[in-house]
Amino acid sequence: MTVHFPFQNTYAALPANFFARVAPTPVASPRLIKLNRPLAVQLGLDPDLLATPEGAEILAGKRVPDGADPIAMAYAGHQFGQFVPQLGDGRAILLGEVIDKDGVRRDIQLKGSGPTPFSRRGDGRAALGPVLREYIVSEAMFALGIPTTRSLAAVITGENVMRETMLPGAVLTRVAASHIRVGTFQFFAARGDTDGVRQLADHAIARHYPDAAKAERPYHALLQGVVARQADLVARWLLVGFIHGVMNTDNCSISGETIDYGPCAFMDDYNPATVFSSIDEQGRYAYANQPRIALWNLTRLAECLLPLFSDDKDKAIEQAQFILGEFAEKFTTAFGAGWHRKLGLFTTQDGDDALVQDLLDAMAKNDADFTLTFRRLSDGAGNADDDSARAQFTDPAVFDEWAVRWRQRIADEPQSAAERQAAMRAVNPAFIPRNHRVEAVIQAAVNNDDYAPFEELLTVLSKPFEDQPAFAAYADPPMPDERVLQTFCGT
Ligand code: AMP
Ligand code: MG
Repeated sequence: MTVHFPFQNTYAALPANFFARVAPTPVASPRLIKLNRPLAVQLGLDPDLLATPEGAEILAGKRVPDGADPIAMAYAGHQFGQFVPQLGDGRAILLGEVIDKDGVRRDIQLKGSGPTPFSRRGDGRAALGPVLREYIVSEAMFALGIPTTRSLAAVITGENVMRETMLPGAVLTRVAASHIRVGTFQFFAARGDTDGVRQLADHAIARHYPDAAKAERPYHALLQGVVARQADLVARWLLVGFIHGVMNTDNCSISGETIDYGPCAFMDDYNPATVFSSIDEQGRYAYANQPRIALWNLTRLAECLLPLFSDDKDKAIEQAQFILGEFAEKFTTAFGAGWHRKLGLFTTQDGDDALVQDLLDAMAKNDADFTLTFRRLSDGAGNADDDSARAQFTDPAVFDEWAVRWRQRIADEPQSAAERQAAMRAVNPAFIPRNHRVEAVIQAAVNNDDYAPFEELLTVLSKPFEDQPAFAAYADPPMPDERVLQTFCGT
């Protein structure tokens, strides 16, 4: 029995300039190191067959499954603010689309599967470290309830890739609602190809924003939809301390999923200026800049859509600006509601924003761990004991002043302590993919071919809101000598 993928290929049916047809490059000796069995089932695939040697060959790009129509997608993008008219999938190949158990169309893409016509200098390959990082962090984001691409499998290729040193090569099988990016629109807009922009917009509407098709002005509704989802997404990132690291327009998904996990990382100590990425020298993509950058990226999308809005350019710009203007309110609403949930507030009162901001300011000044402060506050909400939250602050007196105000504020609400505790524990995770843990897992895999730490970390992160006493140490921030201050793209 061979594994059967019920592929459809709607993107490959678009005009020829949307992509390049290219097969993955076979590799020496693929070995499956991880298969996401629940996700396979969700996609209607047989996990037992995917786990066979033949399944591993497919997941490594050594064998192209029946029904696939492999393509590398064309896209452009602003990288750190600089426009690059042609990027495209330089190390990724879309095999096709399947309809999942919920009726959602999902791309199945191999990342690291060899060169494509869009690989300009790179080798089209991926090293094991970045593959494991993306696997861990994307699945952690999913467990945290944040829209994201998923990871179906990781294989090592049996070949080395040349980076600063020789590293084991690997292929990630990525699953996404689609791989259409802001940069995909820019590809056509930059060529003055308004028909291309329109066909892409129609495809994106059918796939991600079916209600927009019924709207009076579908293309305006498309932009509105993307603005709403990005505003919500970035609010969710901030609420868990996630820093994407490379919010280029080519890494900004039209579907509203988190995509392209490169030098991404979660903050330990709260500091709004936190940057991990080695290439982000100016801090363009720092933690607190992410909402502003999302809007900047959406503005680039709006520019691409102008010709579809109106033949009258001034009118089109005015309409685009109106829609972009909704970002701030949508973001603020999602962000504010998120903080209320994190602090166990069920209603809104004047002064709540200051309550949140004063806590954050105190955390920043007192090296408080972002995740643990909120988790410990949640625990303490059940028994009126704030000692463990207090312990996160270098100067606990600062926390005490704030805690008095918070205790007074929650006393205004009718919910019981147990109810508040349960609600807070459901939104304030105990476990995030802490950088030092991710690095340790990668080192064990790359240096010792040991995947036990990887498996254990995935297990812990699959239930981020449960205490899991056996794994309590995974909730701890790094010791000073374990701190990881920089992350790398690894491409
Ligand atoms: P990313 O880091 O994923 O945002 O990639 C930026 C651009 O570089 C995209 O066009 C990628 O396809 C391309 N790229 C990244 N790594 C490689 C590689 N190893 N080989 C070829 N192209 C690559
Ligand atoms: Mg990218």
